[in-house]
Formats: sequence, structure tokens, C-alpha cells
Amino acid sequence: MITFDLDGVLQVNPFRRGVFPEVCGKIGETLVEESGQEPRTASKRVMKMIREESRRRLLAGAYVDAYDWDDIILTVAKAVESPARFDIEQSVIKYCTPEYISSYPYAASTLAELSSRGIRLAVVTNGFYKYQNPVMTGLGLRHFFDDFITPEMIGTVKPYAAIYQAAVKGEPSVCLHVGDTIIHDVWGADQAGFEPVWVVRDLAGDLADLKPWERPTRPEVEVLMRKAFDSDSCPEAYPEARVEDCRAAYIIKDLSELLAVVEYAQRKVA
Ligand SMILES: [Mg+2]
Repeated sequence: MITFDLDGVLQVNPFRRGVFPEVCGKIGETLVEESGQEPRTASKRVMKMIREESRRRLLAGAYVDAYDWDDIILTVAKAVESPARFDIEQSVIKYCTPEYISSYPYAASTLAELSSRGIRLAVVTNGFYKYQNPVMTGLGLRHFFDDFITPEMIGTVKPYAAIYQAAVKGEPSVCLHVGDTIIHDVWGADQAGFEPVWVVRDLAGDLADLKPWERPTRPEVEVLMRKAFDSDSCPEAYPEARVEDCRAAYIIKDLSELLAVVEYAQRKVA
């Protein structure tokens, strides 16, 4: 079986370009009226408050709540005494248009080929189902997945093993997880007994020329691991994760390399 992270791997969701700008603009109007801030400055400040509220929840161990954008946005609106109220699921649906959402190259063709080979595919994402399902449906990718595992269903989030284990049925010979966030998708998947396939889109020359299974042990990968670890939005939320334990089994630069990885992994266990 293969599990997939969504954002940064299969899809670009509409939060950054559609949902958040609209929400921040409307909540920001209160700051514009009350303290005479420029609309752009007010909007940026609201975005910062939204990110901080999510981070605060992660650090408090309220992992699922850290991805509840309706509740986070309501908390921020109340904090600045804005009367604006939102239905984020409806907002996501509104922005599911080609200007705001897209799939990554080779997503549809790779998923089609994997499923035609009888490999079970599942989603393991930290985005709530109501926010992710419309995007995957809009992109025509939803039907490839029987199981679509999200935090509010399981009561925990990546990087924790339970969310990965919820995707496992029976005893699959090969268990791969494909993702781009080093703590969630590489460290977490490894801890859960999956072989992590790390998506790194801007691989430098020498690494790019190697096979996906040759890349992880190269010395120059240490730098990539450290960089990815330090740029995580909240590494302090997972004190047990150490950068040296975030080593992928495979590194791919795009989804066109995934089929070769699957064939290699199947040969290994055969
Ligand atoms: Mg991701």
C-alpha cells in the first residue's frame, strides 16, 4: 500500500491564495477602523495571529485543534472584536477553481498507474476532511483513494503513528508513505513502520542524477535534512523528533519517480 500526504505532494490547496486573504481582509477591517492601520498591514497582522493560534495549540498538545481553521479563525476574530464570521468549508469550496487550486505534475497519471497495478492507495493528511475532500474532488484525484484519513477522524495528527496505522489494512508487503514535510512525513512515517518517500522538488545537480534509493545516504542530504527540520513551522511541538532520525528511505524530485520506487521496494521484499 502507499499513503499520500496531500499539500505539496498532490495538490495546491486554496488557503494561501484564496481563503486566508479573504478572511484576513475581513477581520482586518476592524483594525483599520479602530487603529487606522493600512488594510495590508492589518491583514498581515491577522494572518500572523492565525498562525500563532495554530502554533499555540500544537505546543499545548491540542494537536487536532491546531488544524481546525473554523475555530482558529473564530478565536482570532473574537480577539480583535471583529463581527466577521466564516464557514471555512464553504470558502474552500468557493475557491476550488483553476485560479486557486492545482495538482502537481504527474499526479493523475502516477495515481492511475499505481491503482491499475492493484496497489491500495490511501490519503494521510493533517487537513480536515471537509477542507481537503473538495480540493481533491475538484482536481479529479479523489476517486483513486478508498481511505482518506484525517485528524478529526482519528483524534491525532501526523507525525504520530496512530494516524498512519489507521490506513493499514491486513498485512501489506510494501508500506510506503509519500510526503514533503520532514517531521510529519519522514520521521512520523518511519516511526509508524512505513518506508518514507520524501518529495524534495529542488534537488541540486548531483543528487538529481542519482536513483531515489541512492540519494538518502549521500552526505549532502544531511544539509537538506537540517534545513527542512529547521524550517518546520513548529519543531518544538515534537521534542522527541531529532534531525538525524529523519532519514527517508527514498528521495524523489517529482511524482514521475514514484513508479520506479515502488518497483524497487517490491523487488526488495520479493
Ligand atoms: Mg505536505
